[in-house]
Amino acid sequence: MISLIEKVVIEKDSLESSVGRNLISFFPREKILIVNDFEDFEFNKTHWHIICRRGKGNFLKDCPCTPNYRGCNYKVLNLIYNCYLSCTYCILQSYLGGKIITIFSNYEDVFKEIEFYLENRKGSLIRFGTGELSDSLFLDNITGISKNLMEFFSTKKNGVIELKTKTVKIDHLLGVKHNGRTVFAWSLNPVEIALSEEKLSPHPYLRIEAAKRAQESGFFVAFHFDPIIYYDGWLEGYSSIISKLGRELDPEKVVWISMGSLRFMPSLLEFVEREYPDSKIFYNEFIIGLDGKRRYFLPLRKKMYKVIFSKLKDVFPDVPIYFCMESDDLWEEIIGFRPKSDEEVGEYVVGKIKRILF
Ligand code: SF4
Repeated sequence: MISLIEKVVIEKDSLESSVGRNLISFFPREKILIVNDFEDFEFNKTHWHIICRRGKGNFLKDCPCTPNYRGCNYKVLNLIYNCYLSCTYCILQSYLGGKIITIFSNYEDVFKEIEFYLENRKGSLIRFGTGELSDSLFLDNITGISKNLMEFFSTKKNGVIELKTKTVKIDHLLGVKHNGRTVFAWSLNPVEIALSEEKLSPHPYLRIEAAKRAQESGFFVAFHFDPIIYYDGWLEGYSSIISKLGRELDPEKVVWISMGSLRFMPSLLEFVEREYPDSKIFYNEFIIGLDGKRRYFLPLRKKMYKVIFSKLKDVFPDVPIYFCMESDDLWEEIIGFRPKSDEEVGEYVVGKIKRILF
């Protein structure tokens, strides 16, 4: 990993922060550059860089979801931007642009925002996550951010933190106090897709092994089948990875699972053609969705969701399975109810963990 990063650029006022100190002690001296303002630094755009600086706005936001589709009332904590795992379909590549990973050194400021948010929502259980604009854990063994979040949430009755990842670097967190308020979550795809489209991430079987370790250490876990990708052999591929989950995991400690099919803005295509010319998953027929994103035709989405949902239900009958960015019609047809609001979906998703915790 060290070799992947060209320079770690730290602004002076972040030097004494815990993240700043952790970066300095991890990376070799010649990779560290201390500056007054990162904007004065000329970035070589073909290499990965880390910037460590103070964030100025709010860290806590509503998940932007996507216009005209149903959301899940997820709250995102944007403490790190970008990720070098380079999945071919990752929207961050066109959305954030470039190979710059920004880590906010004053991430502790988010605690006040969360306190305030939760104070006004007693009786609910609110789901927060750090995996919206980055992989939650790909640098965590260096930054040390998640441990502090977990300890913070362990004291909150009505909040849970989801650490969503494709990595298996969780061992530094397995002894952290959590009080049931941390959920480790893995994004999963069939082995063939992982090998061709998620080349820098650990094999899906290793992710499942990590989930098992998390469960054995007393944590709840969750899974995200997102993006679901159509390819020759998709049925066998998804069936096989779901069966593997069923064999390896304790269903009692699986608290939610999401499904979302491949979707992307056209701007991602230029990037993919340039960076991943071997990727085949974008050679398909797509419609333009109500949000302007390309998606599979409705009959194909429906067919895949029906099969995957029913296989997941066979293995995890009492786990809430939900859609990420789909229509209410599909909710009704596949999941079995038509949500009236994003808040209702949010309540449904945390239904199982809430029953256990409250
Ligand atoms: S792991 Fe997640 S955040 Fe990182 S490149 Fe892949 S999809 Fe994007």
